[in-house]
Amino acid sequence: MTATIIEGKKVSAAIRKGLKPRIAALREKGVVPGLAAVLVGDDPASQTYVSSKARACEKLGLYSEVILRDAGISQDELLGIVRQLNDNEKIHGILVQSPLPSHIDEMTVTLAIRPDKDVDGFHPHNVGLLLLGRPALISCTPYGIVKLLEYYDIDPSGKEVVVVGRSNIVGKPVAAMLMQKGPLANATVTVAHSRTANLAEVTRRADILIAAIGRPEMISADMVKPGAVVIDVGINRIEDKTVEKGYRLVGDVAFESVSEKASFITPVPGGVGLLTIAMLMTNTVTAAELSLGTRG
Ligand code: NAP
Repeated sequence: MTATIIEGKKVSAAIRKGLKPRIAALREKGVVPGLAAVLVGDDPASQTYVSSKARACEKLGLYSEVILRDAGISQDELLGIVRQLNDNEKIHGILVQSPLPSHIDEMTVTLAIRPDKDVDGFHPHNVGLLLLGRPALISCTPYGIVKLLEYYDIDPSGKEVVVVGRSNIVGKPVAAMLMQKGPLANATVTVAHSRTANLAEVTRRADILIAAIGRPEMISADMVKPGAVVIDVGINRIEDKTVEKGYRLVGDVAFESVSEKASFITPVPGGVGLLTIAMLMTNTVTAAELSLGTRG
């Protein structure tokens, strides 16, 4: 079997297109959804990420602000910026780009963001709502994974899903989404991690295998059930002297061999990672709708 490639670009384009009428309806009511991104320090990857978010907002006709601060900013000053954004009516979504310098406690900053503007979906209020199966701002990577499944008509209902990785930003929330009672869920979910005994036995049970580990190509073909859907969240740099930049990106899944065995597979790059910004835009529009009480 050769797997169908799940194309993040296609899904992301469809999601952005689907946002247009929602944005137009908000505009008719005099609201332009607004996103503020706060970037502390000069990490090049974060800079690139924040500027692509701003460009994506512009393309969709959303309002955006990028707030840049030196790595020396104090935690109190940063909390002050968050409070101003909480009170700013033009801003419906706030994201504070991680990683933050080590003298700033990320959870304290997350807790300072108003939950209804928490477009990263990291605030315990939103995490709690997600677990309870109530409408929430859902963190972008797990939300994107579910949207990939939806686009390719892969119904998790009744399926064995194995998530490898239990991080707060990927593993736990995607497991929480797929275990809910409701559409695009109803799966039987197992969460595996570094202490899981006989990992390969566990992963071979999966009809849908989600790898969020951060270990280059760790999931080999012998760990995958024939015909499984394989979602690779990992983004790992490995040395490659044959290319100019000296490295290339690979996922947590050994793509070549696993794609011979799976029914669907996400590539890295080109898969899950391409959904993040589309989901951030979705959450910003949802937050704007919530502010008017018109969420559909
Ligand atoms: P993380 O916080 O480091 O969590 C990794 C998880 O993998 C942990 O639960 C860990 O287990 C588990 N793990 C590590 N080694 C393992 C092993 N040998 N066997 C089984 N489980 C193992 O990572 P993360 O933030 O979730 O990110 C995971 C990957 O996804 C990274 O490559 C990251 O760059 C990528 N990522 C991509 C996106 C995207 O948009 N595509 C977004 C976020 C992250 P323990 O809990 O026991 O330590």
